Amino acid sequence: MITLIHVTKQYENRTILDVPRLTFESGKRYALIGVNGSGKTTLLRLIAGTLRPDSGKIENVPLQNMGYMPQSPYAFDFSVLKNVEIALQKTPQPAEKALAALEAVGLEKLAGARGNKLSGGETQRMAFARMIACPRALLLLDEPTSSMDIKGTDQIENQLLRYAVANECTVILSTHSPAQALRLAQEVVYLDQGKIVEQGSTEQVINHPRVESTRLFLQHWRL
Ligand code: ADP
Repeated sequence: MITLIHVTKQYENRTILDVPRLTFESGKRYALIGVNGSGKTTLLRLIAGTLRPDSGKIENVPLQNMGYMPQSPYAFDFSVLKNVEIALQKTPQPAEKALAALEAVGLEKLAGARGNKLSGGETQRMAFARMIACPRALLLLDEPTSSMDIKGTDQIENQLLRYAVANECTVILSTHSPAQALRLAQEVVYLDQGKIVEQGSTEQVINHPRVESTRLFLQHWRL
């Protein structure tokens, strides 16, 4: 179980995140929701270890067996296939596994293309293939489908669910979309100005929010 205890993060004397306690159970899927600037990316980066908290501690993150996909994933100046293979160093048959991951996200036709010349949505699909190319205990995904069309989004969501179940993987993703949270997550954490305002089962938080701030946020949701 990943546990945050008294975690705070400040920028320029402004408190960006203030989390007295938060836990993520192993093998469960979580969605972080909240308006722009509410602290979702900061929280993911603190868990991933690419940012350090100003105070508090974060325990039990499987850093050796974790995948972190930032909002703008990195693409190297070599083939798409090689961009996925870099997640497979030291494993047998990396090219075959990378190609299978590209097939899973519908990008196999671009295996030979230059990785850093893809569109935004294709780059996200390539980065997601890198995430699912090998078994991992934890996936941290920062708005993983934000640049994708509806077909790409559907494909990635299906693959994520399949992968998470097959690998008993903990998933923490941020999303702007309450509908995506309903499709993917078992639990939702709603953030407002760096504080956790509401947390619970996705169905409860999205469809029956108890807190005024969550209700106000969700009233902007139109199907
Ligand atoms: P979200 O992912 O919910 O949109 P972020 O975690 O990216 O929110 O940002 C939370 C707040 O922290 C924002 O107001 C943002 O401007 C601020 N922030 C993030 N990174 C920095 C930084 N490096 N320097 C100063 N302020 C930052």
